[in-house]
Amino acid sequence: SSRFPSTLSTARAACCGTRTATSASISTTNATSLILGHRDPQVTAALQAQAEKGTAFANPTEPEVELASLLTAALPSLQRLRFTNSGTEGVALALRAARAFTGKSKIAKTEGAYHGTSDHASISVTLRVSEAGMPSSQGLTAKTLDDMIIIPFNDAAAARRIIEQHGDDLAAVIVEPVMAGIGYVPAEAAFLEALREACDGQRTLLIFDEVQTLRMAPGGAQQWYDVVPDMSCLGKIIGGGMPVGAFGGRADVMAAFDATEGAPAIPHGGTFNGNPMTMQAGLATMRQLTPEVYERINERGETLRHQLRKWRAAPGCRFASAASRRSSACKLTDRPVTTYRSAQGQDEALRQKLFLHLLNEGIT
Ligand code: PMP
Repeated sequence: SSRFPSTLSTARAACCGTRTATSASISTTNATSLILGHRDPQVTAALQAQAEKGTAFANPTEPEVELASLLTAALPSLQRLRFTNSGTEGVALALRAARAFTGKSKIAKTEGAYHGTSDHASISVTLRVSEAGMPSSQGLTAKTLDDMIIIPFNDAAAARRIIEQHGDDLAAVIVEPVMAGIGYVPAEAAFLEALREACDGQRTLLIFDEVQTLRMAPGGAQQWYDVVPDMSCLGKIIGGGMPVGAFGGRADVMAAFDATEGAPAIPHGGTFNGNPMTMQAGLATMRQLTPEVYERINERGETLRHQLRKWRAAPGCRFASAASRRSSACKLTDRPVTTYRSAQGQDEALRQKLFLHLLNEGIT
């Protein structure tokens, strides 16, 4: 069917906030950025108030400082933090900072992981094993391809071997502590520990992409592990539904951006970096995320997971669902999904039909 709407003008207030959901629709809430659902009253009020004061200033603003303070308190690994306009930009700048700090050029990422659409992130994103390690985009240079090293998710021994093999050239390893794209599969502690050890042995920085996983706990997924990353990338919920990203970490690495003594080693100007509308929406969101709210979100996730398990038990029903503590996803395959390789091979035609069907039902 081609009845699906190509544009949306309004959204109902689904689904996970402090209020009762007013809509029956399940929603990805703008690719998981709206943790409180659409049109949260406090976020709307904060945006309205800021619009009265001005929508964009070149100077730093108070809400920017307040949001940075809130995030650095929640994630102790963030000694310094900078805002961008997207997760993509935050990842790109974290990678550049790692190259500047180490003087090395290569970056390792886990096979199939999504880290946005910058050049380096656009390699090995597909879930088709026949295309593993290939660019997911045209227009990348051979140098970019050459600079990317791919490691298998949750394979500690292989990851360690690859990092050691390329260590002399390896500036950073970037990884999601819970890999969203293959269905929110949590990293095994031993895998992250192996990455940390191997990186330390090679003077390579370890970067956690928490753009998506920050929604799982106040301190992000990193609060569940004993591994402390050198750098982290954030995005999505921290902007309360406005365009946002952030990156930060060790003060000595972030010193490259410091402009207080003159031209910084890495210039990071940006017309809308730390934009006050975004910062107000982010603050109004993050301040509501008490431990009780995280619990409520998790309870709703449990309800969903319970229902999925019941459906999966029905005859003729073919899908696998993976779940971390706070997020879950379905893959249209009858094999269990625990790694990138096992996530591939889902029924793509069925996935497209389901996608259009949900769109037709007003679920997006
Ligand atoms: N990293 C991860 C893990 C993401 O999920 C995303 C967005 N889906 C990004 C980076 C890129 O963020 P953005 O879409 O804001 O550029």
